[in-house]
Amino acid sequence: MLRRLVLFVVVTALLVAGAVWLADRPGDVTIHWQGWRVDTTVPILLIALVLLVAAMEIALRLVRGVVGAPRRWMARRRERRTREGYRALSDGLAAIAAGDTKAARKLARRADKMLGDDSLTGLLTARAAELAGDAGEAERRFRTMLDRPETAFVGLKGLMTQALERGDGEAALDFARRAWAARPGAEGLAATLFDLQAKAGQWAEAELTLAEAKRHGSLNGAERRHREALVLNERAALADAAGDVAEGARLALQAHKADPIFVPAAARAATLLGRMGKSRKAAAVLEGTFRYAPHAALADAWTALAPAEEPLARVKRMERLMRANPQAPESHVALAEAALAAKLWGQARTHLEAAAKTHPSVRIYTLLARIEREERGDEAAAQAWQAKAATAPADPTWVCAACGARTESWSVGCPTCGAIDRLVWHSPGTGLLPVPVQSSSAMAGGSSSS
Ligand SMILES: [Zn+2]
Repeated sequence: MLRRLVLFVVVTALLVAGAVWLADRPGDVTIHWQGWRVDTTVPILLIALVLLVAAMEIALRLVRGVVGAPRRWMARRRERRTREGYRALSDGLAAIAAGDTKAARKLARRADKMLGDDSLTGLLTARAAELAGDAGEAERRFRTMLDRPETAFVGLKGLMTQALERGDGEAALDFARRAWAARPGAEGLAATLFDLQAKAGQWAEAELTLAEAKRHGSLNGAERRHREALVLNERAALADAAGDVAEGARLALQAHKADPIFVPAAARAATLLGRMGKSRKAAAVLEGTFRYAPHAALADAWTALAPAEEPLARVKRMERLMRANPQAPESHVALAEAALAAKLWGQARTHLEAAAKTHPSVRIYTLLARIEREERGDEAAAQAWQAKAATAPADPTWVCAACGARTESWSVGCPTCGAIDRLVWHSPGTGLLPVPVQSSSAMAGGSSSS
């Protein structure tokens, strides 16, 4: 402010000084030009020159203003459209979060029109199309997102989800793998990629995925270790099938250590160790798992450790397994079966009745009927139990959590729908899942028999 004032004073002083200087030195000027003649004085000429320069400057500005107007108008319009486009983009994403299909589609179209950049509006338009059930449009939009590295990951994930929904595992695996490469260790992707690789039987790749997930910390500990157990258990099965029992036992034992309550790994490890003559170690594995997951497959593996033993010796040995989890229905049933074979009727009946109290099921009443027949030949009493069996809840079995199919034995993929690691041990009688087969649920819930 002060500087401008000083400048003003100085310029005024100079002008006044100049005017005075010119007034003190009068002189005439005569100009001849193209038959014209102008007589004037020097100060008038100077003033005329200054006015001429000022007039030219004003004219130039006017011309510039007229010529530049359309461009400025365009720039303002572009700015307004961009602002409106981003507002539509933001409102559209909010509409999607709120599940408002109609508004989302409308705003997506608006954002598309205003911004004119598919790679910017791809996510909104794709999600809006998805919400409206327009899979083709959604896919096209997700694909446009692959062009920019910033949006490629989301595009690939969207395409992967679409492939999963239409049951195209091969395409889903391809997209999942590319998404994982674009963003290794991405939250929530490791489990899906692992399952897709496992489903395709690519266990080596699945193992690599787990290693990367571990490095990036993108799968929680229990979840990752359970999947490691799945891989090791499959590799153990392959080694066993190839005739390498020692390698099979080693891998199965590793699987058991990765997830100590994963029943299939414990059973396999014990069976293979038993075949190598390492019964003591096998027994320790079974007892350890039975404590938290009292499962029939473990009792079967326990029995198989001494296939030729006397019935009475088997009862004694079964009592030892039962001590690991005395209240579990599987304990009662396994011991009752051993007692039945040894003709220890009273003991068999006691255990079956205890199991029937908490987990009544077909096999328990069928065994009670067998006792009546074999001990006393009491057909009437046997028929009474048989009648109860007819209306009793079904025996516990493996049930696929994805498709609901029931299956006798465990396998990593559901025999019906192929879903990976979705078989859960289900007891229809109580509606409970008496045996946690994954560490995450077991560690949270503790012993299921308590
Ligand atoms: Zn299934």
